[in-house]
Amino acid sequence: MERKVRVRFAPSPTGPLHIGGVRTALYNYLFARRNGGEMLLRIEDTDSQRFVPGAEEYIVEALGWLGIKIDEGVGVGGDHGPYRQSERRDIYRKYVQQLLDEGKAYYAFDTPAELEAARNSRPNFQYDASTRMEMRNSLTIPADEVKAMIEAGTPYVVRFLIEPGRDVEVNDLLRGRVVINSSILDDKVLYKSADDLPTYHLANIVDDHLMEVTHVIRGEEWLPSAPLHVLLYEAFGWTDTAPRFVHLPLLLKPDGKGKLSKRDGDRLGFPVFPLEWHDPKTGAVSAGYRESGYLPEAVINFLALLGWNPGDDTEIMSMDELVEKFSFDHCSRSGAKFAYEKGRWFNHEYLQKVSDERLAELFKPVLTKNGVDPSAFTDEYIARAVGLLKSRINFVADLWDQARFFFVAPETYAEKDIRKRWKEDTPAIMEELIGVLTALPSFKSAEAEPIVLQWVADKGYHLGNVMNAFRLCLVGECKGPHIFDITELLGLDETVSRIRRGIQTISLPPAQQ
Ligand code: GLU
Repeated sequence: MERKVRVRFAPSPTGPLHIGGVRTALYNYLFARRNGGEMLLRIEDTDSQRFVPGAEEYIVEALGWLGIKIDEGVGVGGDHGPYRQSERRDIYRKYVQQLLDEGKAYYAFDTPAELEAARNSRPNFQYDASTRMEMRNSLTIPADEVKAMIEAGTPYVVRFLIEPGRDVEVNDLLRGRVVINSSILDDKVLYKSADDLPTYHLANIVDDHLMEVTHVIRGEEWLPSAPLHVLLYEAFGWTDTAPRFVHLPLLLKPDGKGKLSKRDGDRLGFPVFPLEWHDPKTGAVSAGYRESGYLPEAVINFLALLGWNPGDDTEIMSMDELVEKFSFDHCSRSGAKFAYEKGRWFNHEYLQKVSDERLAELFKPVLTKNGVDPSAFTDEYIARAVGLLKSRINFVADLWDQARFFFVAPETYAEKDIRKRWKEDTPAIMEELIGVLTALPSFKSAEAEPIVLQWVADKGYHLGNVMNAFRLCLVGECKGPHIFDITELLGLDETVSRIRRGIQTISLPPAQQ
């Protein structure tokens, strides 16, 4: 019988989730959904040295923000828990014991100094079939002595006994069949008595088995561990139900060669983390996509296409559409350049789809940050203002630059626009304009526009100069959306007061006097 697809995202809480890790989580999610399966979240925290407080909460929050829904695991629960490896000690102890009892693993007592000496004794020392009989372990020390040492609390590790000279086959859905010889593997440490915890390899295999994982989808950096994992499944007798592997290609620097790093983000000005991260040790703050004004849908769409395509050149796809189209057949084996400009483009595209009301909500914190109290304006006013300007922005924060004049009357006026547009007769014309505006039967853009334009034509005024001087009074510079859309939203009183202020404040530059 076909087993139900179950995948897991298994991060180690060693810091904020990197954007490459987010893509791994996303591909797991898309694959699970596409195949009617389930997605687990397991926290691999067996390495207490590298544990960072807050990292687990960060991961859960980031996945939630992105809409990567977890079916089972940390924060959700389920039948296969606990889902934090540090809470599964008893389980691992049993499996370590099983390998020891079956002679597939052994105790090793070598101290760090002894290991160091061994490493120095010959080039390319490896703890394996060629050296293990020279070391201090349960293969070389009599059984009663081993027992006594363990009872006395002597620190030890348990090592996996790798038989040399065997071809180990790794099947990867993306990379095909890879065969490597077991002689190049070392007798990996599976357990350390010092922390009474297994190492990554043992915990990972045992959990994938017990949690009934069918597909291990993870980053390329784990590919070298795959042969060892295959041997562990075999040692436990789990080969038939061993998960299929998919090792995803790396995310590469946007420019040049090599793996994407945080430094690339700092250098080129894009975040490499989904959410802002406050390092608990140093206090350093790293930028996040969320805080930089990206919409989660845009981040998802952008990441989905870094290493996969739908088989045609469709670019804009919702999560549901991605699920619908996702398969490893169209995944690339080679690294994907992290084209962050494309991420900005996606964000622009997605912002155009966002309702003005939602955009207004997203813009409110930006207003507050810039000293404007959003509650001084109606929701409708803010929504209409952002609606007029969203076609010009890549980020919500860009709205401040574009739309600030809707919230703060100009205090200064652009020098070059004054020079170009503010003529000697402008103050008088602006006075006259106030009269025209005040007499309008309607302030609606479409109704106001023809009347004002007719007035300009009747008077024989220079249309460009009049309208730009008008704009200068309203906006402070000659930019912004359609002028009658601006006046409609500002309303008659505010429009008139800004024109008056312009007349009083804008003086003719010396060159023109
Ligand atoms: N804990 C590993 C990590 O942090 C998981 C690797 C795997 O998915 O097997 O990436």
